[in-house]
Amino acid sequence: MRQKFRVFATADIGESLELLRQRGYEVEVYPHPEAPPKKLIVEKLKSGIDALITTLRDQVDAELFEAGKGTLKVVAQFAVGFDNINRADADHCKIPFTNTADVLTEATAEFAFFMMGALARKMWTAEHLTRDNQWGYWHPYLPFLGDEVTGKTIAIIGTGRIGLAMIKKCTGFDMDMLCYDPAYQNHDYINAIQEMKDLRFARGLSSEKTSIKYVELDEALKNADFVSIHVPLLREGETGTPTYHLINERTLHMMKPTAFLVNTSRGPVVDEQALARALKENWIAGAALDVYEREPLPADSPLRDPSIADRCRLYPHFASAARITRLSPDPNKGMAGRCVQGLIDVLEKNYGGDITKMPYVVNKEAFR
Ligand code: NAD
Repeated sequence: MRQKFRVFATADIGESLELLRQRGYEVEVYPHPEAPPKKLIVEKLKSGIDALITTLRDQVDAELFEAGKGTLKVVAQFAVGFDNINRADADHCKIPFTNTADVLTEATAEFAFFMMGALARKMWTAEHLTRDNQWGYWHPYLPFLGDEVTGKTIAIIGTGRIGLAMIKKCTGFDMDMLCYDPAYQNHDYINAIQEMKDLRFARGLSSEKTSIKYVELDEALKNADFVSIHVPLLREGETGTPTYHLINERTLHMMKPTAFLVNTSRGPVVDEQALARALKENWIAGAALDVYEREPLPADSPLRDPSIADRCRLYPHFASAARITRLSPDPNKGMAGRCVQGLIDVLEKNYGGDITKMPYVVNKEAFR
């Protein structure tokens, strides 16, 4: 007979929660669409829940771990990014937390790619022209033109899971690629992409020879037509190479005035004040953003300035928001399935109860 575990989910993650109920778990779900107040999560933890399912909207820190002391066994994060979880606090309290890496990689990369296309080809502005009944004529260049993506140069900043998936997608569009990652360089992958590029050229699928290589950040920024960001949010003190405000006044000035920025990583990686100025004063040609320093994007954000609306695409943290990616109960397909499996692994002591062997636990260092 399995122990009756108690779980509190700060958001509804769909039918995967039924899997827990079928296993005899008692599952309570915060019923509203917005994040619950922290006070409520503290209350639930103090009431003795065994597991907490969180999203990136919940600040998980010492206050929560303290409230769950003695009973909380795992925090299961419904996301790959976990900058909302204080890792040092989790380690200190020896609470494992899990994430949902891999299953959202392709969906996030394809969204970044589509954002890039929508921005460069002015798809939003073009649709408005039609919808607003402003489409008065067909003309070679009026009222505006977009820029091609095919055959251009892209800088991939961060070559982890999503960065590499983005590289794969850009290969189909014959893009030259400049990669930057100070901590992880996957040369086998990059070599395989170069082989694919050479084959496309040799067999006549591409008319130009194209290349991919690792370079320093400055070189990537200076030479790219598109800059796509795929880093985790890491602040000063968390790493030797922080990503907080990696894109700032200085780095924006390095980009070509014709270049576009795409950010699907985390908002604080980009200094939004600097970006808004860059767009207004035409230091760069445009930006497409899925994530913001404050979410939801405040009504008074300078990014909403109507004078830059034609070159600033704004999406509501939507890159992983695809049906199967978000909700499939299969842990190899969906964030929900992987989130629930990570939680089960810890509570039911899978892998012989060895947390360091559990694939979805992030902070294994606390258990070595
Ligand atoms: P990952 O850990 O596999 O890859 C991140 C890469 O960034 C690593 O290779 C790392 O070495 C590199 N990196 C770290 N510091 C760097 C720096 N200063 N400069 C350049 N590279 C640096 O993570 P992932 O699965 O590819 O996800 C990346 C991030 O994307 C997540 O942490 C999350 O914040 C974000 N994300 C957003 C959405 C969305 O809906 N918009 C969806 C999924 C992930």
